[in-house]
Amino acid sequence: MISLDSILNTDMGGVAAAQSTYNPGPDDILMGQPGSRVRLSSSTLSLLQGCERKFQKTKLLHNPRVRDESPAMSFGKAYGAASQFYMILRTEGHSVQESIDSAIWELFKNYAPLLEDDRRFLERGIYTLERSIPFHEARLMEWEIASFNGKYASELSFKLEIDETYYFVGYLDLVLKNRKSGRYAVTDNKTTSLTLPDLSPVYKFSDQVLGYSIILDAIVGEQLGEFDTNYWVAQLSSRGIAAMYEPKFEQYTFPKTLKDRFEWFLKLYLDVERFKVLQGLDIYPKRGSNCNSFNRICPFFNECQFTELDKPAIYVPDETEYDFTYNLKDLFEDHQRRIAA
Ligand code: SF4
Repeated sequence: MISLDSILNTDMGGVAAAQSTYNPGPDDILMGQPGSRVRLSSSTLSLLQGCERKFQKTKLLHNPRVRDESPAMSFGKAYGAASQFYMILRTEGHSVQESIDSAIWELFKNYAPLLEDDRRFLERGIYTLERSIPFHEARLMEWEIASFNGKYASELSFKLEIDETYYFVGYLDLVLKNRKSGRYAVTDNKTTSLTLPDLSPVYKFSDQVLGYSIILDAIVGEQLGEFDTNYWVAQLSSRGIAAMYEPKFEQYTFPKTLKDRFEWFLKLYLDVERFKVLQGLDIYPKRGSNCNSFNRICPFFNECQFTELDKPAIYVPDETEYDFTYNLKDLFEDHQRRIAA
């Protein structure tokens, strides 16, 4: 039988060391105490939907591990930032060469932490970016970047207040206006190693960009009933060295309505309400189907069952200045009125 001591001292990936550093001061607020807040995002919402115990361990309890980071995340973040930067520079009138040179530097700056493996590494990121030029040039013919407050609508942030404890935040890559149809699109850059010939099933009903569309009305300056979600996907095969250097680029655009966005609000509300019921019971179900995801074992796998180790995290206030702040109740009322009109 495994003893608590052996768990603490051998197989905890740093937990044992961190137990001794857990030392809340008298002025610290602990998660769960009045005044503490829970910040949700697209990824933490997936966590909540996937395994409540994992969400609890990650967001509510003392978690000494460094953030859940991976080569795929570093690669995707760096490529996305560079792709966005290239679009802005070209829109400002810089040449292709100037823009790609600056975008490569942007990729380099954003490749942090520099986590690499045999498939995701800096050199491949630069190569992928260079190969994406025809794709981005075609997008520039099709779309223009919308403006907000005299700046390009790029990397805008918002905070959505759900209740006194929970709130949701998001960062939008780009807001675009179609040059032909005049339709607006909220756009996200993605990288994937999925090899499906058609990635529509991955993105068509994805919630992430749909939720981010709440800032469209403010940017466009009028209340939109219809808009698009738009994914620019770099598909990076991992099958063999040759395929590794043959990235494919595809755009996936899906029409959405106010009703779709209302549905997203409702799901967000229901997810949080369901979790609050479990919190009230002090029960956090363990969802075994998520212990191994994309060949990665959950970092809490060896300690998950030991609730004796649970300690509430020290609350760290969120000092971020968000570009937009919304209230979920107001959005419910506003969208109900607009859908009924
Ligand atoms: S080990 Fe499995 S059950 Fe436990 S937190 Fe991780 S995903 Fe959830």
